Amino acid sequence: MKIGGSKEIFEQVLDTDLCSVCGACVGICPYFKVHSGKVAKVFDCDLEKGRCYAQCPKTGVDFEMLSQNYFNQPYTDKPLGTYQKIVAAKAGDMLQGDRFQNGGSVTALISFALESGAIEGAVLTDAEGLIPVPKIVENAGDALKCAATKYAAAHTAAAVNEAAKDGRTNLGVVGTACQLTGIAQMRANPLEKSDFMDPVSLTIGLFCTWSLDARKFKDYISGKIDPATITGMDVPPPPAEVFVVKTGNSTTELPLSEVRTLIPNGCSVCPDMTAEWADISVGAFEGKKEWNTLIIRTARGEELVNKAVAAGYLKLDEFSAAGLDHLTTGAGNKKKRALKKQNQEVS
Ligand SMILES: Cc1cc2nc3c(=O)[nH]c(=O)nc-3n(C[C@H](O)[C@H](O)[C@H](O)COP(=O)(O)OP(=O)(O)OC[C@H]3O[C@@H](n4cnc5c(N)ncnc54)[C@H](O)[C@@H]3O)c2cc1C
Repeated sequence: MKIGGSKEIFEQVLDTDLCSVCGACVGICPYFKVHSGKVAKVFDCDLEKGRCYAQCPKTGVDFEMLSQNYFNQPYTDKPLGTYQKIVAAKAGDMLQGDRFQNGGSVTALISFALESGAIEGAVLTDAEGLIPVPKIVENAGDALKCAATKYAAAHTAAAVNEAAKDGRTNLGVVGTACQLTGIAQMRANPLEKSDFMDPVSLTIGLFCTWSLDARKFKDYISGKIDPATITGMDVPPPPAEVFVVKTGNSTTELPLSEVRTLIPNGCSVCPDMTAEWADISVGAFEGKKEWNTLIIRTARGEELVNKAVAAGYLKLDEFSAAGLDHLTTGAGNKKKRALKKQNQEVS
């Protein structure tokens, strides 16, 4: 794969409106920054080959290389990626929280990993108002403060780049497909730096069909609801066709047809609904409220899940064959849509 520099990122990703603001190009150098939910170039850079380009999930991903790195096996374009098993899960009694997005499995796994010493820190996503901000946490209490889904696109991968610069290792990361694809490419040391140290030892992926452009989302919501009063958001499964905003004890339903106009163009070329470059991927369990679907992909992921269950941080249940069919169809459709759109972009 030909590696370019920041000029090529501009031509191929930012100028073509394909950026999903994952943050993979940010935090490496002084030239790229994220300002209020958008990637911006602060200075010109004339490097011909940059990690910014090599790590970007929109400049072309070497799936075969990533699959060999992650799973020690060739890449197949199966809808759910490579995995060992799929189960239903929710936070166990060791974790008390009232703001989980679904079953709280993500916060439970990260909390257990931190408290048991399996990881030394975790890169999570908090928010300032409606703008998501990455945060490194070191204990379960701070992980709990980052619970719940921020639907705006977040530059979470930038915090991993910053942590690597600071020499941090043994970190957990929670992210969506674009963020984790950027991080997986970073972990492959694409420019073959001799002093490279992998900062990450655990990845938890979030299912994602789309995220929202942070600035457009802020403008859209601010005209309707005071952002300071928002306590949560959700996209209930079809046929609901609404985006739910929770404020205190009440909820507002906004038409999904309006909210979809805020999706960045970059999401339309993303083929990965279940965050395939992860040890464990987590999403909502459609039809089983307050439970999650857990895709366990690696031995590291399986070990963490088993230990978290034994320690009372996580509860498991069976995942149904009908649920698997539904999930596979949804993920397969996202791949097909992305491929079609990618072909349109190049023609
Ligand atoms: C933009 C987006 C779209 C999603 N779309 C779907 C979908 O279509 N179908 C589906 O089943 N699930 C989707 N999810 C995942 C789902 O919303 C829950 O995150 C998942 O089910 C885990 O639930 P939980 O209760 O275990 O999470 P919690 O325990 O509440 O933890 C949530 C975690 O998400 C992280 N997070 C929050 N916002 C972001 C963000 N913008 N970027 C990166 N990390 C973030 C936080 O750091 C926190 O650790 C989406 C998530 C995001 C961020």
